[in-house]
Amino acid sequence: MDKYYELTEDKVVKYVNEKIDFFSDDAVYKCSEIGDGNLNLVFRVKDTKNNKSIIVKQALPYVRAAGDDWPLDIGRGAIENKILKLEYELTDGLVPKVYLFDDEMCCTIMEDLHDYIIMRYGLLNLEIYPNFAEQITDFLVKTLLLTSDVVMEHKEKKNRVKEFINPELCEITEELVYTEPFNIGGRNDMEDFLVDFHKKELVEDDELRLEVAKLKFDFMNNAQALLHGDVHTGSIFVNQKYTKVIDPEFAFYGPMAYDIGALIANLVMNYLSTDARLEDGPAKDRHLNYLLKTMGEVIDLFKVKSLKLWDEVVTDQMAKVPGFKDWYINDVIVNTAGVTGCEMIRRTVGFAHVKDLDGIPDDAKREKTKKQNILLAKEFIKNRHKIVTGKDYIKLVKENRVH
Ligand code: ADP
Ligand code: MG
Repeated sequence: MDKYYELTEDKVVKYVNEKIDFFSDDAVYKCSEIGDGNLNLVFRVKDTKNNKSIIVKQALPYVRAAGDDWPLDIGRGAIENKILKLEYELTDGLVPKVYLFDDEMCCTIMEDLHDYIIMRYGLLNLEIYPNFAEQITDFLVKTLLLTSDVVMEHKEKKNRVKEFINPELCEITEELVYTEPFNIGGRNDMEDFLVDFHKKELVEDDELRLEVAKLKFDFMNNAQALLHGDVHTGSIFVNQKYTKVIDPEFAFYGPMAYDIGALIANLVMNYLSTDARLEDGPAKDRHLNYLLKTMGEVIDLFKVKSLKLWDEVVTDQMAKVPGFKDWYINDVIVNTAGVTGCEMIRRTVGFAHVKDLDGIPDDAKREKTKKQNILLAKEFIKNRHKIVTGKDYIKLVKENRVH
């Protein structure tokens, strides 16, 4: 920790040039802090003369969105660096390339994805991404299946589990996703019109809380695969051709469903948001249909690709027993619907919100949409055993349109 100091726009050029040989001597620098996340500093260092740039991401010893009274282990920077390198290899470049990791400063210096946009903002602008479902399912299937006991030598896998133990970041998820939204108080944050609704629909629904408790303990105890741990649409960079997943600092060994469900939930919330924000007409229909198609494809392609890859890479003898792979993948899909519901709920009543819902300008529509988001999320959790195909997702989401 002795050599750790917080970077600023003024200090970052000198820092980068001490660490890597990337910029030429005649470089004309422009630096800006571009981090819009909750936890870290992110700088873009650009040489405007030669049009070259890089990103420097530094872990802060506290939660940025909450201030320095919420301390956080900066060791997550090392985890992020390690998993980015691993995911880069496993997925053939579906994450940014890391140039250097500096342990003392907890800084990752990486590829600048300047010609990409964060998917949440792209979707809010009604962009559609034709290759996204195909590419993100490649990412999910490869990072998840190839790090699991289905494929890995079991002692090596257990060492990996140890290497990626990430207690503080896991605790954030355990509390903010699986606990506080189903209780009163904590760091919950909701609009006034949700206060009574939250109590009635979430805190006082024992059947729901029992299902959430099961999902929480699956998250904590099922060291199935190396997760990204935070695959919402704010952690995905896209353009018309490519997809890159960023920000895996929540990585740890957990249930595959957690990554897939987080993604699906954010597509569903964009669906509800689009329905609320746009006037009826072709632009709205086009975007809603794209989102439904994408959700369906993510589920179905994940299933098809995992089952196919399974036969090529499986090493465990018992995992080859006929019927096992179908049981295993089905179980992942069932829990995916459960995670989808939990992620949707926490984004409405919990600590961290999404622009898709908070940004609905009309008060009455925003209220109706947030309430519907909670009701739909409950369906996902309670009926998850029956929501197992892309078609099931499409039907349920379509039925829950309110505008
Ligand atoms: P945090 O962990 O604090 O949420 P992120 O990794 O999500 O930080 O990065 C915050 C923002 O910084 C992103 O939303 C994106 O705009 C920008 N960013 C992060 N990594 C890159 C990159 N490799 N290329 C370009 N921009 C990036
Ligand atoms: Mg982050």
